Amino acid sequence: MLRQRIAFDLDETLGVPLIDGATMIGWQVRPGCVELLTGLQQAGFELCLWSVSSRRYVDKVLSFALGRWFAETYSWDEVPLRWKDVRHLVVNYLVDDSAFHLEEARKHGLESAYILVPGYGDPQDVADPWRWVRLVETTVGWFLSLLRDSLPLDLRVLCQGVGGGEAGSPNAQCLDVKIDFAVR
Ligand SMILES: [Mg+2]
Repeated sequence: MLRQRIAFDLDETLGVPLIDGATMIGWQVRPGCVELLTGLQQAGFELCLWSVSSRRYVDKVLSFALGRWFAETYSWDEVPLRWKDVRHLVVNYLVDDSAFHLEEARKHGLESAYILVPGYGDPQDVADPWRWVRLVETTVGWFLSLLRDSLPLDLRVLCQGVGGGEAGSPNAQCLDVKIDFAVR
């Protein structure tokens, strides 16, 4: 069975650290995070955590929250890349609040693998706290993950990497492909 892999950025994408003075005392998970990660995991997606913070910081966050969803976690210590190239971790998608990685990916024609979400607490996020969840859900295409298991192998390969996108999003150009495929 082919499983799609999704990498998630940490800070401002999944939540923010709770700080008391100079000490991190916890992690504030953003709205929709638990529901999204649980749903993706139950649908069979492989979830990776990909942060450019240090291993020490990532481990501290994982000790507070999020650890149950991520079998693989990567920090700057293991992956000191200037931009998050999805080919490096062999993931189908990267969910990140930073436009920098998307812009770099665009130079290599990889932009459809990047899901740019509003950062937690950004004005866009405050206005619609679940928009980031819908962006991820529509882009990865739930029904494709269900269809994939019942398709012949050659068609599964065609499905791999075909996503969707909310109108106006960086991934919107893939939506036509998804609808066209579904109608057939
Ligand atoms: Mg971030």
